[in-house]
Amino acid sequence: MKVYCPYCKKEVEYKIEKRDIKMFRGVEINSYENVAICKECNEDLYINEIENKNTQRIYEIYRKKANIIKPQDIIKLREKYDLSQRELTSILGLGKMTINRYERGGVPTKSQSDYIKLLINNENEFMNKVKEAYEKNNISKKTYNKIVSYNEENDVSKDDIQELYRKYINSKLNRRPDIYNGYKIFDLEKVENIISYIASKVSNFTITSINKYLWFIDMLSFKERGVSITGLTYQNQQFGPTIMEQKYNEISLLDEKYTRNEYEDETGTKTYITSNNNYDLSKLNKKEIEIIDKIIKRLKNKNVNEISNMSHEEDGWKKTKKYEKISFEYASDLKIIK
Ligand SMILES: [Zn+2]
Repeated sequence: MKVYCPYCKKEVEYKIEKRDIKMFRGVEINSYENVAICKECNEDLYINEIENKNTQRIYEIYRKKANIIKPQDIIKLREKYDLSQRELTSILGLGKMTINRYERGGVPTKSQSDYIKLLINNENEFMNKVKEAYEKNNISKKTYNKIVSYNEENDVSKDDIQELYRKYINSKLNRRPDIYNGYKIFDLEKVENIISYIASKVSNFTITSINKYLWFIDMLSFKERGVSITGLTYQNQQFGPTIMEQKYNEISLLDEKYTRNEYEDETGTKTYITSNNNYDLSKLNKKEIEIIDKIIKRLKNKNVNEISNMSHEEDGWKKTKKYEKISFEYASDLKIIK
């Protein structure tokens, strides 16, 4: 293929040379660009398609490495409040066509990207910007009202959500007393306080361990007193006994007595439970607290896998089919505490 060379002033043959691009906008990207070179004079030639591909490749790596906002994120923000590109541009105080450019794939600088991200993730900051733009007459009263009324309609408080979680968990786990809940009516408040109590004493307490600790506590209670403590129902799952229908997920999201913290390690994301240290054990009797303490003492220095393995030694797990409810009748043969 021939292209015009401005140096030779005629159509020439060209070759492609690959050149390293180590840095882009101050970020290490370790990529490359293809450059067309005139075969006759060896000067760099500009060929649109090749340059576009270079730009695309470099921007894509840069976007990932510098964690730059995606066009879709900006579109979502606009759609959330039903804003035009121009309205959003005015609110953010950016140049006229900026949002249009970003939505078509233009790459913002790192600081501009971080700024937009902040406004997407922080509704208060965004509302401050909206107010500011309105006061400066950069957006109309109509635009302003549209955004404010959106926020009022969708204002669900954190307390409302927590209350919904509690209702949902109760509706899923409340069952008549029988051999599968240890003849006890499910008591979520107790569960929350026990989890907070355990978390205050155990440093590596994860979501997975919630299941095992509570199961062992209820089993030991049943063995010693013929009745469980929490009224939870457990089922056989691959990694041991777990709360029915994986409702430990929702239970872990309640945040009055404890907090979820996510950590990354080489095996993936682990979710730890930290106590808010405001547990109230007044609903538990002395014997029940004794049982809980015994299990904590037994498991506290074990990691999740070890605890999982201990649960696999138990008849309750071994003799129950996968996904089936675990009967408390197996408590009589509990091995963890003789
Ligand atoms: Zn040339």
